[in-house]
Amino acid sequence: MQKTFIDEDRFQSLLTNIPSPSPAVVADVLKKGRELKGLTPEEAAILIHVADQSFIQEIFDTAFHIKNTVYGGRLVFFAPLYISNFCVNNCRYCGFRAGNPAPRKKLTIDEIREQTDCLIRMGHKRILLETGEDAGNNPIDYVLDAIDAIYSIKNEKGEVRRVNVNIAATTVENYRRLKAKGIGTYQLFQESYHRQTYENVHYGLKGNYLRQLYALDNAFEGGIDDVGMGVLFGLYDWRFETLCLISHASYLMDKFGIGPHTISVPRLRPATAVNLAPPFPVSDSDFLKLIAILRIAVPYTGMIITTRERPEIREEAFRLGITQASAASSTAPGGFKKETAKESGQFELSDKRSLDEITASVMKQGFMPSFCTACYRRNRTGAVFMELAKPGDIHEFCAPNSVLTLMEYLEDNASAESRRLGMELINKSLEGIENPSVRNETEERLVRIRNGERDLYF
Ligand code: SAM
Ligand code: SF4
Repeated sequence: MQKTFIDEDRFQSLLTNIPSPSPAVVADVLKKGRELKGLTPEEAAILIHVADQSFIQEIFDTAFHIKNTVYGGRLVFFAPLYISNFCVNNCRYCGFRAGNPAPRKKLTIDEIREQTDCLIRMGHKRILLETGEDAGNNPIDYVLDAIDAIYSIKNEKGEVRRVNVNIAATTVENYRRLKAKGIGTYQLFQESYHRQTYENVHYGLKGNYLRQLYALDNAFEGGIDDVGMGVLFGLYDWRFETLCLISHASYLMDKFGIGPHTISVPRLRPATAVNLAPPFPVSDSDFLKLIAILRIAVPYTGMIITTRERPEIREEAFRLGITQASAASSTAPGGFKKETAKESGQFELSDKRSLDEITASVMKQGFMPSFCTACYRRNRTGAVFMELAKPGDIHEFCAPNSVLTLMEYLEDNASAESRRLGMELINKSLEGIENPSVRNETEERLVRIRNGERDLYF
């Protein structure tokens, strides 16, 4: 069997042969974490073994500290846009699997434009395009046309400014074409790094473990410098998967000089025509612990939570390191327009609140909703982004940009209550901008936005 960067034996032994760590050892690991130096899988394994509640609280406090230092209080929102549920694969957990006899739906380009129009009216500026794998029904040209269609829509509430893409592993040439279309992040989840588990739940083209494992390498080869990884938690032991995510991130860093832009942490959800109970269910407390450990281990990688999770878990996760969240989602092609929302989705959602309800609730928590897309449009991606993020310089741009995009949202989409909360937050954030010229410029731009200008960013 080909040797890969996932050393199963090493990780399994880290999880089975470690005695409960002493307070001094845990303190050393957390100190390194606080210094934003990241963690090796060995160090992360030490935190995994912490069981004492007061030490777990210290892990959470460290994660919170790192989140605040690197990202401030910002939370970036996006929505998934499912364009087709045709799929040739038969992943045992997924409502789109080929074995589900339900009728399929592939959006026409006009329907993609309509869906985009709905999302813009809610206030979204970032879209994650998703589709099943089916070269016949969803060829790459269809995906590329869909991206063009999304970027082409502008209405009185604005436009989509960044399209991220989550489609099946593909060729270097196709990645090159996606990059040329102006995508933001290319996301692909390994689902499980545990090979036997992976092969037990995947059938069809996706059943090839190595194709999935090296897909992000191919994306880099194709010129995409902004990739997202993830695990479908519940398929296998979360502790093993967490070590593998850390290892995958450092493998990409070593090979391409750029770590992943994001890590997603989906937990397995019920879905139509799926009878797979999670073989390794992840409890809420373990879920929060793994988020905190990842935050400490890869401090410069954004972390994504979706509407698969309940509002109260999302709120806790925001404190522990999540930087991006989906909101007001649908996992059915056509799901954003009542007349076309006939299909059932890929899986069940747990947070069904509107974007306005979600933004209001995070503002009450003290977080700053952001719809910013500036870095990618200013070419601050890949290695350039990493260089800025590392010393924390990214704050210079992110803080004012989040204020400006929140102001647009308040002007164009928010309820009266959200507007009140948002204005309070904007005033407080302005006080936190240390550089006086950046602060002045931000204040001037806020006035310009209130006077009708849009899309002002640093
Ligand atoms: N079809 C492409 C693929 O599989 O690579 C694109 C991704 S799919 C539309 C998005 C992700 O949804 C999958 O990678 C998987 O992790 C997740 N997913 C599928 N079924 C799920 C379920 N029942 N519960 C939670 N997440 C699920
Ligand atoms: Fe198809 Fe992706 Fe669902 Fe697998 S996870 S059945 S590849 S849509």
